[in-house]
Amino acid sequence: MLAHSSQMTTHLFKTSIMSKNNHPLISTSCRSITPEPPVNSNEECYTGIGASRGISIGECYVFVKEKGDHNIKELHEKNISEEIEKFFTALLRSEKELKKIERVTIRKLGKGYSNLFQAQIMMLHDPVLIDAIAERIGSERKPAHLVIEEEFDHYLEKFVNSNDVIFQERADDLQDIKNRIIRNLHIKKLNSWLSEGVIVAADILSPADIILFSRNNIKGFVTDSGGSTSHISLICKSLNIPIVVGLGNFSQKITTGMQVIIDGSTGTVITNPEEKTIAQYISKKEAEKKYEEDTSLTAMLPATTKCGIRITFNANIDFKEELHAVSPAGAEGVGLFRSENLITNGNNVPKESEQFSYYLEMAEMISPMPLDVRLFDIGGDKLIYSPVKEPNPNLGWRGIRILIDLPEILDNQLRAIIRANIHGNLAILIPMIISVDEIRHVRTAVDKHYSELTRAGEWEIEKPGVGAMVEVPAAVELIEEITKCADFISIGTNDLTQYTLAVDRNNVIVQSLFEKFHPAIIRQLHRVIQTANKNHCKVIICGDMGSDPLALPYLLGCGLRRFSVVTSDIPKLKSLVSRYSIAETEALAIECLKLDTSSKIKARLEAFQADH
Ligand code: PEP
Ligand code: MG
Repeated sequence: MLAHSSQMTTHLFKTSIMSKNNHPLISTSCRSITPEPPVNSNEECYTGIGASRGISIGECYVFVKEKGDHNIKELHEKNISEEIEKFFTALLRSEKELKKIERVTIRKLGKGYSNLFQAQIMMLHDPVLIDAIAERIGSERKPAHLVIEEEFDHYLEKFVNSNDVIFQERADDLQDIKNRIIRNLHIKKLNSWLSEGVIVAADILSPADIILFSRNNIKGFVTDSGGSTSHISLICKSLNIPIVVGLGNFSQKITTGMQVIIDGSTGTVITNPEEKTIAQYISKKEAEKKYEEDTSLTAMLPATTKCGIRITFNANIDFKEELHAVSPAGAEGVGLFRSENLITNGNNVPKESEQFSYYLEMAEMISPMPLDVRLFDIGGDKLIYSPVKEPNPNLGWRGIRILIDLPEILDNQLRAIIRANIHGNLAILIPMIISVDEIRHVRTAVDKHYSELTRAGEWEIEKPGVGAMVEVPAAVELIEEITKCADFISIGTNDLTQYTLAVDRNNVIVQSLFEKFHPAIIRQLHRVIQTANKNHCKVIICGDMGSDPLALPYLLGCGLRRFSVVTSDIPKLKSLVSRYSIAETEALAIECLKLDTSSKIKARLEAFQADH
């Protein structure tokens, strides 16, 4: 098994796959636009995970974090109090740095992301950790840097070995604080100013690194670790900086000054590119730029098919700060607000009053356009709520299951949403539905709170609609009943693919099996959309598949008319819609339903796209 995994790793991170695709914004793989280099060339091609799109060509800067001086192993008695003093000064310096980073973040990205740094600042004040370090410096006469290493590594080991992606991502935050304190013990200044316009490569980068480096007009980032949903990936997307993550030990294979090309849509990284390769990527970049300029011109117009059918595009968002980009991209509302992002530090659920203000502000900013607030989808691979370690969190206490078991959380969130629905544009979306009982449970709670809140007759509030996420195969099986019980349904193809194919969406080893064009998914989508339309239940897709141009004609052919996607993908999808007539997409859907493998389905969709 081990031998098998290591072979796979080599294969994953250094590939030379040949594939052809002529659309500038459609994903292609390593070497997809360039031929193999000449035999005596130093050009190398690597594939990681493209987590924020865009092409950058430039010089690489390999960022290695300062670790400090580790020569002293034991303290002299007379130096102990001075060493403890040094430790507390380092904590203060680290806090000052983090506060500065927090200010830059608020300026660049708004308040949403600054929570990350508040969480780190809180760790600097954790009495258990801090007291233990100070106590051990005295009792064991060990220098501060060694005790800090040992104490942090104790937690880090647990985080890194956790099956939970969120814990693994928190490990990066913890590592960042450890390095920061140790650097500050040695009074080293934060190395955050780089030469303008380089591409930064590192084994790991923290959100703080990304924010600070972004002041130097950085062209892109590449990291050995990380996933497409990690914090650094989300921040790069918001800052419009390309990033490729999950590149294995790439940072050890390159040196500062080396020429690199990175393609944040495909995950391709090319080192020492040949002139010819550079020229090809320059023209791909220009084609992408031109395409984006053209599509943004049409983005504000309503999307209609060639035969005049209206298609609606909404946005998926994680924070209210993203709302300002929704209208300019041509979105007609928010189809998915992942409210669990309001829960900071893993389990700090905001109070009803805090949630009310947040939802109200959002509802006002976007009114009269609709906004679907998904109830906290906590647990699983998301935020931690569970105080117990679950053997298989994705099949465990997650989403609606937690909300039903902890009614206070559900009740507070429902009341906050109902009270904030002053403009009548909010709806409630329930995650991880496997039964109609769960929908009825939420409906009963909504009815109870609504009548309590409106009984006094003080408010004229419209009752928010209640929708169900269809993201577990059980919900597909029950789609007839679910579409009669919910006001609308929203198809979450990310989890639907994970649970239908039994493939963990975050596990790199089985990533090639995470196939949204699998015939099982293709057939489920058809069944769900057709049943919803038959029962006059509004249906929208909010999983990543809705953003895939290849899937677009198939989904239209199934009868889908509403999409909720990453905001920046809306202009391109809107412009593509006008190329198709519903009759031809319906014929395409019927053909795809008869195919028995994902490769045949993709080949058919690619051929359709090439014809349009
Ligand atoms: C999904 O599962 O497709 C979805 C949209 O929800 P999330 O990615 O937040 O789980
Ligand atoms: Mg989901």
